[in-house]
Amino acid sequence: MVIILKKNAPQKQISTLVRRLEGKNLTVHCSQGVNSTLLGLVGDTSSIDIDLLRADDAVEDVKRISEPYKLANRRFHPRDSIIPIGGHSVGEGFFHVFAGPCSVESAEQLSTIAESVKQSGATFLRGGAFKPRTSPYSFQGLEEDGIALLLEAKRRTGLPIVTEIMSDSQLGAFADVDILQVGARNMQNFRLLKALGQTDKPILLKRGLSNTIEEFLMSAEYIMAGGNEKVILCERGIRTFEPSIRNNLDISAIPLLKRLSHLPVIVDPSHAAGISWMVRPLSKAAIAAGADGLMVEVHNDPKHALCDGAQSLNPEEFDALMQDIRRRIAFEGKQVA
Ligand code: PEP
Ligand code: MN
Repeated sequence: MVIILKKNAPQKQISTLVRRLEGKNLTVHCSQGVNSTLLGLVGDTSSIDIDLLRADDAVEDVKRISEPYKLANRRFHPRDSIIPIGGHSVGEGFFHVFAGPCSVESAEQLSTIAESVKQSGATFLRGGAFKPRTSPYSFQGLEEDGIALLLEAKRRTGLPIVTEIMSDSQLGAFADVDILQVGARNMQNFRLLKALGQTDKPILLKRGLSNTIEEFLMSAEYIMAGGNEKVILCERGIRTFEPSIRNNLDISAIPLLKRLSHLPVIVDPSHAAGISWMVRPLSKAAIAAGADGLMVEVHNDPKHALCDGAQSLNPEEFDALMQDIRRRIAFEGKQVA
């Protein structure tokens, strides 16, 4: 971090500032130029509040030269993190498809979909039990009953399950869930992230609707700072000015996240566009860009789905997608499942 001092800052103010910084275990290097004086900070600056520094009377500006996230940063952890879950390895070199309905609706619906996605080659079963809906009048999910149905489907198919947690008060209900999903709307629910950091559960963290890559990685950092390093990042499309699709899949986020971080990166092409026919081309793009997996919504009767039917594939479409995925994954030299 570099601090640019004000041109005529009194020496007394500068000394007070330097002492304050040294008190935070930082080494301060001063370089006096003709037009400006700079303070270079060496050490762990992650707890420095930049806005507070900028408000100091002696300070003109502050520039970060290293990222504010440490645990999620590839710089300090050059090797890719591979997360073991339910007998599978998630991360670089492997490829997994997490498939299932947007919402768990009934025992029959879930078991039909679970059997068929397994048959087609999915390795994880997804399904929302607690649903974050824009309208309070929309179907909110079967809640605890939905989790019981997911566990039943897991017993029957052997597929590990992933489902969304919306509040730390729900943690008890998720004791047997394999992967806890943090949805886009909760990416910056810091209280939830901190609570998840105290667990040893793998967390699937989705990027917020309008969040930057740095904010996304800082949310991963929240979980990791609590001691839980099992975080999977999920790019699911971001808000742009384009109204004809639900979100815009940020393809560049995939290589960027993989470069900046060692964590696995998967892509959700269903929420990215909100249109079922676009799931296949977006899936191919995600694989080509280096994704470690896909999360795909599948419904046995998309037209009558209680949530996100327009973006859900039917089992036949999903099967065709999986055949395509397998070919492309083999081409990328990755291991399927
Ligand atoms: C979901 O996966 O069902 C979901 C609600 O996704 P997102 O949080 O990305 O909107
Ligand atoms: Mn959905």
